[in-house]
Amino acid sequence: MTFRVTRYAAIAAPAQGERPASPPPLLRRFGTAAIALGKWASEGARLASDDVLAERQAKCEMCPERVGRWCRFCSCWLPLKFRLATSICPANPPRW
Ligand code: SF4
Repeated sequence: MTFRVTRYAAIAAPAQGERPASPPPLLRRFGTAAIALGKWASEGARLASDDVLAERQAKCEMCPERVGRWCRFCSCWLPLKFRLATSICPANPPRW
């Protein structure tokens, strides 16, 4: 496990290429959700349009970092991540 600085904040996350076998640990999921919601609220609490949401879903569908409804790269719950206008893909380069 390495520590990386994402555009959200400094969080513990697996380096790209490391492939944990299961979704991220519960505590980390809560932490990333709190950070994402705080950023979203502080930047106007805007929601993504249906078109943006569909584009994000389509790109995540083909991503090897997706585990069910979770992104194991940033530990975010994807249905929420898709809808928040301030969300970004943490991959380098970002996939959306
Ligand atoms: S948010 Fe980015 S890294 Fe995460 S599953 Fe979606 S495309 Fe992959």
